[in-house]
Amino acid sequence: MSDSTELLTSDIDRVADAIRAGDRFLLTTHENPDGDALGSLLGMHRVLEALGKDTVMFLAAKEFPLPVEYRFLPLEEVFHEPPADIADRVVIFLDCGNIDRMPVDFLQNGENTVINVDHHHDNTRFGSINLVDVDASCTAEIVFDLAGLLDVRLTPEMANALYVGLVTDTGKFMYENTDARSHRMAAGLIEAGVDVNEIYRRLYEHAPIEKLRLLAQALDRIELRDDGRLAVTYISMDDYASTGASESLTEGIIDHLRTIDGAAVAAVVRDQIDAGRPARKVSMRSTDGRVDVSAIARASGEGGGHRQAAGFSSELEIPEIVEFLREQYLEARAAARA
Ligand code: AMP
Ligand code: MN
Ligand code: MN
Repeated sequence: MSDSTELLTSDIDRVADAIRAGDRFLLTTHENPDGDALGSLLGMHRVLEALGKDTVMFLAAKEFPLPVEYRFLPLEEVFHEPPADIADRVVIFLDCGNIDRMPVDFLQNGENTVINVDHHHDNTRFGSINLVDVDASCTAEIVFDLAGLLDVRLTPEMANALYVGLVTDTGKFMYENTDARSHRMAAGLIEAGVDVNEIYRRLYEHAPIEKLRLLAQALDRIELRDDGRLAVTYISMDDYASTGASESLTEGIIDHLRTIDGAAVAAVVRDQIDAGRPARKVSMRSTDGRVDVSAIARASGEGGGHRQAAGFSSELEIPEIVEFLREQYLEARAAARA
């Protein structure tokens, strides 16, 4: 066993011990929650309930309505305000690489014991206990391991929630983070009651027509730079207005850009509708792993993520962002060759 594996073993044991010892918990994740964020949040909540714990989930009101693909998850119990007894709760962050990805005052004041359960390699280890498993394909995979360690028998609802995290973060078992472990987890979840086709249909085949119209706009204006190795598109306020699509319907557009033959990096820049947020959000994917897009996100000063999937927010105008991406891409490519 390598040193890092040993460390991880003790980290997961420490988290399991802290869960056994605690009575009251508050669970949260990152803003703009994706399938892994929501799946691991709900999965962990039900695991704690099965252990007889008092548990609440928290997400800021601005996250609602959730992206349409995740609305079938039973998240009605989510709190939008801190519970009155917040001071007595252990806070568990799921799938959140740094605390600034949950910009909510009561979660940033350092007054609670914090358990940080995540799989981002650039996790800032902001917790009192940090369980950061960079080999896990998704945070749901770590929750699955924790459930096993805590002898919790998975219900179909827990399995469905964790399966959503697994399917979305592995790109339906196709991204580089997919391995035997993620397939073993899938088998375990299916045995626990996941209806595979039903989840697939809910995630990918309940799209409102506005989503396809927005996609059409985005595809129509793809720009290819550097001999087609960088593929970029953007979605502006005008596009939301002309298609009737909400911002959350941008989810998944980037997957179309990464399919272009020869594209090493795909990026989607979008205007953010909410006044409280930075003007724009950039999503990036590295298709062959040679370029570390999380480094580009960090270079922006406002982001992070995985080597192959990362994002950042920005106040720059769209052409300036495209230029920034181009410069960063060229630098990253030179670094990858060195
Ligand atoms: P997205 O492009 O929003 O689907 O995000 C892709 C990956 O980048 C996910 O793993 C996110 O957790 C991460 N990510 C996206 N935006 C940020 C950000 N502003 N800061 C840190 N990580 C981010
Ligand atoms: Mn996530
Ligand atoms: Mn994740």
